[in-house]
Amino acid sequence: MARLLEGRPIAEKIREEIKKEVQALKNNPVLASIMVGDNAGAAAYVKSQQKTAENVGIDYQLHKFNQDISEAALIDFVQKLNSDASVKGIIIQMPLPAQIDYKKISQFILPVKDVEGMHPANIGKVVFAKAKILPCTPAAAMELLNATGVDLYGKEVVVVGHSEIVGKPLALLLLDKFATVTVCHIGTSKAGKLEEHVRGAEILIVAVGKAGLIKGDWIKEGAIVIDVGINRVGDKIVGDVEFEAAEKRASWITPVPGGVGPLTVTMLMRNLVEAAKLQQ
Ligand code: NAP
Repeated sequence: MARLLEGRPIAEKIREEIKKEVQALKNNPVLASIMVGDNAGAAAYVKSQQKTAENVGIDYQLHKFNQDISEAALIDFVQKLNSDASVKGIIIQMPLPAQIDYKKISQFILPVKDVEGMHPANIGKVVFAKAKILPCTPAAAMELLNATGVDLYGKEVVVVGHSEIVGKPLALLLLDKFATVTVCHIGTSKAGKLEEHVRGAEILIVAVGKAGLIKGDWIKEGAIVIDVGINRVGDKIVGDVEFEAAEKRASWITPVPGGVGPLTVTMLMRNLVEAAKLQQ
């Protein structure tokens, strides 16, 4: 039976370190959060960010805009935040309305204020293993792996999902630790090869957003399973892995909710502190 790999206790420890680092800064750093329109998911995420920021002494400032704001007006606002020295980090909440291109707008955020770690300049540093600001969810997955004590060197790691925000940067972080990384995606599934790859994984990380995609009996005995997926099924939140069957085979498994999620927000705060230090 697997041990539960919970994000909260790890996040709590990291938050204690963040608190000390915030106290050592000249002023309380400001995290500016941009939200366009009303969306229940984004509102819940903002609430969790607000609470975590407050807990570590970060001043969280929420800027809400109407659904019909133009892209140009939002870019102007981002530039205003760029030139405000009290603002150390900027985050743009998803989803955005159709007239606003996230990729375009996020490139206007100064790389030193890009606390999501998604600006091309920051992603580029991930490639060169020189990043101080890491994309939050991949960083959370790495912290979870670290907490198991596993040595990634030479391990067969399978990442399912190749999104720019999770799968791709995570594969780079794992490579940096000399893991043997296989990235599976929709092409792998369509070729009927997902099961075969998952069965060989000593470490499996899944970030797709499809409940039950990974069958419990595919899990290799003793594997570490990190389930990033968040899916609403009826009134329950579940991951992408069949949890009950998988926990019988894995050595460690993240619960959903309570695994990656609580750490992701803490990684955002850690990035804010790094950003503040870079700007100081
Ligand atoms: P995304 O951008 O939609 O990416 C999903 C990835 O899964 C894509 O690479 C997609 O490939 C691939 N995929 C789709 N169907 C597949 C299949 N049948 N077999 C294999 N791969 C398949 O989503 P995301 O932003 O990376 O998020 C993924 C999941 O993680 C979501 O449930 C999201 O809510 C969750 N998430 C959780 C946290 C957290 O903090 N816990 C943070 C971020 C995301 P194609 O693009 O080629 O179709």
